[in-house]
Amino acid sequence: MAERLDHLESGIKSTKYTRVQKDKSTRLNMTINFDWCKGCGICIEFCPKDCFDISSINQPVMSRLEDCTKCMQCVYRCPDYCITIDEVDPDDDSREVA
Ligand code: SF4
Ligand code: SF4
Repeated sequence: MAERLDHLESGIKSTKYTRVQKDKSTRLNMTINFDWCKGCGICIEFCPKDCFDISSINQPVMSRLEDCTKCMQCVYRCPDYCITIDEVDPDDDSREVA
């Protein structure tokens, strides 16, 4: 069950989350574009691993990227193309979180 995070407020444009895979072979990056997100909750509902929590304005918050299996349900089901996921070399800092 996704947790609701009431301390988050509007005004965030986008957020990038990142993790190095357990075998250190790749780095997983996820970006959520909050400018486009309308808070429909589809991504949260369809994530089979319950990776997201919910902000106070019903937008997704990636809280458990370590549980993500890259099933891409959140990417493909978002009607507004807000979420991207990619994998890069673990030493590639060019797409590191700002
Ligand atoms: S790719 Fe799949 S497991 Fe990962 S956050 Fe999206 S829906 Fe959840
Ligand atoms: S499915 Fe897309 S528009 Fe809907 S809450 Fe998730 S990121 Fe926002």
